[in-house]
Amino acid sequence: GQTQAPDYLSGLNPEQRLAVETTEGPVLVLAGAGTGKTRVLTTRIAHILATGRAYPSQILAVTFTNKAAREMKSRIGVLVGEAVEGMPWLGTFHSIGVKLLRRHAELAGLKSSFTILDTDDVIRLIKQLIQAEGLDDKRWPARTFANMIDGWKNKGYGPKDIPEGDARSFANGKGRELFQAYQDRLQTLNACDFGDLLCLPIRMFREHPDVLAEYHRKFKYILVDEYQDTNTAQYMWLRLLAQRPKSRHDTAPQGGANRPSDRSDAPAQASAGRRDAAVSEKEPQQINICCVGDDDQSIYGWRGAEVDNILRFEKDFPGAAVIRLERNYRSTAHILGTASHLIAHNEGRLGKTLFTEHARPDDSKVMVHAAWDSEEEARAVGETIEQLQRPDENNRRHNLNDMAILVRASFQMREFEDRFVTLGLNYRVIGGPRFYERQEIRDAMAYFRVVAQPADDLAFERIVNTPKRGLGETTIRQLHDIARARGVPMLNAAEDIVETEELKPKPRASLRNVVENFRRWQKMLDNTPHTELAEIIFEESGYTDMWKNDRSAEAPGRLENLKELIRSMEEYESLRSFLEHVALVMDAEQNAEQDAVNIMTLHSAKGLEFETVFLPGWEEGLFPHQRSLDEGGRSGLEEERRLAYVGVTRAKRNLHIWFVSNRRIHGLWQSTIPSRFLDELPEAHVEVEESGSSYGGYGGAFAPGRGGNYGGGAGRQNPYGASRFDNVGSGSFSNTYATPGWARAQANKTSATDRNWGTRSGAGV
Ligand code: ATP
Ligand code: MG
Repeated sequence: GQTQAPDYLSGLNPEQRLAVETTEGPVLVLAGAGTGKTRVLTTRIAHILATGRAYPSQILAVTFTNKAAREMKSRIGVLVGEAVEGMPWLGTFHSIGVKLLRRHAELAGLKSSFTILDTDDVIRLIKQLIQAEGLDDKRWPARTFANMIDGWKNKGYGPKDIPEGDARSFANGKGRELFQAYQDRLQTLNACDFGDLLCLPIRMFREHPDVLAEYHRKFKYILVDEYQDTNTAQYMWLRLLAQRPKSRHDTAPQGGANRPSDRSDAPAQASAGRRDAAVSEKEPQQINICCVGDDDQSIYGWRGAEVDNILRFEKDFPGAAVIRLERNYRSTAHILGTASHLIAHNEGRLGKTLFTEHARPDDSKVMVHAAWDSEEEARAVGETIEQLQRPDENNRRHNLNDMAILVRASFQMREFEDRFVTLGLNYRVIGGPRFYERQEIRDAMAYFRVVAQPADDLAFERIVNTPKRGLGETTIRQLHDIARARGVPMLNAAEDIVETEELKPKPRASLRNVVENFRRWQKMLDNTPHTELAEIIFEESGYTDMWKNDRSAEAPGRLENLKELIRSMEEYESLRSFLEHVALVMDAEQNAEQDAVNIMTLHSAKGLEFETVFLPGWEEGLFPHQRSLDEGGRSGLEEERRLAYVGVTRAKRNLHIWFVSNRRIHGLWQSTIPSRFLDELPEAHVEVEESGSSYGGYGGAFAPGRGGNYGGGAGRQNPYGASRFDNVGSGSFSNTYATPGWARAQANKTSATDRNWGTRSGAGV
């Protein structure tokens, strides 16, 4: 009979509800920004749990960032309470990959204590290998090869799989050998890189069908957010898990030696077997996978993402239900109208309809502002933020948490950070490991790594002579050679060499001291609180003293950072779990609980939303980025435009776009040309700030290439000819109003209530 729908379903529109309640079989939700895709996924998990369809440990849910995973977990918690406890398989592809590898490390040729290398380590390692081959590492830069390896791994390639042409193109044809040498070296180090977190589980699943079968039985529901940005390796990984062999319920044993056995899963697993058996008799091949995505937000093509995965979904999963959501719940009509108009300049879209009912007469239009340079841009943004913070006539004030600055390139952040520090305005950087990238933090982490993972030679090398201990290149090379020859970690080699006459007395004594320190700290690892151990390490190694004696302006800040590092460790049970966290961390969250402005790149803003969004730096060469322009062709530029679409659609109520006329890029001042994307915004929804007092007097400055006031820009031409932004700031804005972008403005769509902004392209899917 009809019972009343549970609370968590009541707010959904019919399409959303269909997507939530179609729990069995494959489902693809294809819909534009802010239509509730992520909300559907969250509610779907709540529904699965609340109706007893699966236990938390039987749900595999993939999000794009760790932050998104945490948010999803807490939202499910709100919907279904404690049932969410122990959703061990909710995370990013990488964090789930780590978990799989820790469980089955031996099947991937590793020990479960393996280290995850960051880019720095990888580059240092590759450099050594290139030099060991007798190649010139200036001609064949390690960084280039690291990128190539990353690209291969995104495609799921091992050394044997890479195309002949690729292999030949690097290091006089030694590409494949080097790749193999790199993999061998990782294995010796008991380490893997980020790409391996995907590739090794794929290989393991292929080589050990019994292990794969365990996970087939285990995962009853698979859910994937941001599906448009999965790369080939991630896609292969998903396919392996989502496609059950036909006769699995006949052949796969219900228990077995390889059954994963962590305690949190144990009860759920016992009944998983029973439930599975019941289900599989009826429908042996049921694949309950639900992917949600938006082709217009595919922004990781440069990192190997394949938007085609969306197009292939129905082919891969026959009988898939494809559900479309059309109502945007996030943004005002002005913001949505702006986004839709902008993205309509891309070709080859799947085409979607989007409308909003969110339109009030007092909604502000999208604001476009001009500034002289990035310092002024930061100052003006800071002022706007301070204004928003003050209570208005209704005594409402905006929280800093509700504001975000989304930059195209991370170098843009510094100016805002500096400014906010000056203003005493709280901010946090999201998405980039900024904090952990600092030199002193990296050094500290290297110490921790050698303590927790004694075979971690890269970490050992980083700090063996930091602070300076008279252990120069020669000593380190000696250690290296011994370690290689004997196949032992460098720390062991050091232990041996100090017992011989091979080193001069001074370095020998110094190295002996290092070895003794590390052995002592390693012994303390299991019985000393890890934060205490960290302080002991900083003291006894002389690392804190090094910065205390440093006269540079940064030294006090570095000491502060080290303290902050210890504070941040408190949140973790052990040094090992902290190291793992840092290796994975994409969200450098400081002041997480304080009210603070969010600063991040456009790429890491995906999926998020804020009351007020600032988009600085809309200039040719920065946004769209020079790289995409150099490429020629349409695809790079279209990806930039999708990125702009992502940026615009993060805003709920207020959107401020900025461009500057002079910018320092890689240390050089350059005059700039306003972004072509500005010309692609619809007049009806956008207001350009006329030259206010602070921006006046730069007559003609915004078109330096043509105005000629700023010689640096001579010869640079806006390929789109006259821009309506040429003379912003000179007060003559209205004269240049009628340019192509505006001409096509949707003048008849000013009252935006309940209207389609959509471009229904021919594809009409
Ligand atoms: P993006 O493409 O940017 O990731 P999305 O499609 O995942 O967006 P959500 O983040 O899930 O969209 O939803 C956007 C906003 O709309 C959220 O604040 C969400 O809570 C709200 N929302 C979604 N569905 C509804 C609904 N049925 N009623 C009210 N609010 C909703
Ligand atoms: Mg989303």
